[in-house]
Amino acid sequence: MFTTTLLDWFAQHGRDLPWRHTKDPYAIWLSEIILQQTRIQQGMDYWLRFMQRWPKVEDLASATEDEVLRMWQGLGYYSRARNLHTAARQIVAQGGFPTTLEGIKQLKGVGDYTAAAIGSIAFGLPAAVVDGNVYRVLARHYGIDTPINTTQGKRLFTELAQSLLPSDQPAEFNQALMDFGAIQCTPTSPKCVVCPLQETCEALRTGRIDELPVKEKKLTIQTVRLTYIYIRCKGKTTIHKRPAGGIWQGLWEPYAPQSPKGEAIQDASKQTNNADDLPLWGRGAVLLAKDVKHVLTHRILLADFYFWETDTPPSLPDDYIWVKESDLDQYAVPRLIEILLERLPR
Ligand code: SF4
Repeated sequence: MFTTTLLDWFAQHGRDLPWRHTKDPYAIWLSEIILQQTRIQQGMDYWLRFMQRWPKVEDLASATEDEVLRMWQGLGYYSRARNLHTAARQIVAQGGFPTTLEGIKQLKGVGDYTAAAIGSIAFGLPAAVVDGNVYRVLARHYGIDTPINTTQGKRLFTELAQSLLPSDQPAEFNQALMDFGAIQCTPTSPKCVVCPLQETCEALRTGRIDELPVKEKKLTIQTVRLTYIYIRCKGKTTIHKRPAGGIWQGLWEPYAPQSPKGEAIQDASKQTNNADDLPLWGRGAVLLAKDVKHVLTHRILLADFYFWETDTPPSLPDDYIWVKESDLDQYAVPRLIEILLERLPR
């Protein structure tokens, strides 16, 4: 149903592009490389110019790199032009355009996607193409919320596209799916009212069009420096409770000198982290441990741990309390602090 409807739609609405009137693998390969990072309208002008100047792969192979780069000028991502030139020479050296997916993938600058596109369109190989348009159409039509930028998602969508691909019309199917995503099932404001798949579309039925496809946010891992001073004063030490809104909310920790409020978490890039950063009264503190590493989901913590013994309690922010050292185990502390406390002299 999905495949037949899509192919019918393509027969009526598919884009008429010059490289769709040929089965010449060179012409198709050229179009795929140009369109990797370029809009169709701009890409078309370049494709026509390339084909006019170098109508055969042998012509392109015998051009100089300078000539190719000059012709490419304005398209950006110049590595594509250099790869194109290298691959043209590869093709000529091996006596012709490779006719298998593996062979096509050996060409410089050709990955899975481009190989499947060239293979299916030029040689009728039954290889499904999966690009942004394909992810979107399949995720919406089948109501799939597996993130498309995960290994699992990539596998799932590739297998689904492959299972839908008719082995006798791989070129039409691949182009149809890409065109459908570009023209009909667009990222914003898809034309659901006039969509031939509306009766079977899961996203439309469940009102999830704007939510699909799902993309997993990449976690940015931040490195954070921490400095603690364990102050010992007549059998007592001072601790404070971590405030709401950050890590370790509600847990206790020793004196953290980085900020007046005792907010110990600081971006590593903003910290010089040496003994000069300690408060004046703590300059005599002994360094017990440096760069103790602790890994959290979004952060890597690097902690320095000092020990300072005094008979005169220093003045500290209001939220610090003094507790007997022997009672310290009654206060919940983060695992990192537990590790640091093990370094204390008895
Ligand atoms: Fe896309 Fe809308 Fe058609 Fe579903 S009904 S496939 S969301 S255009």
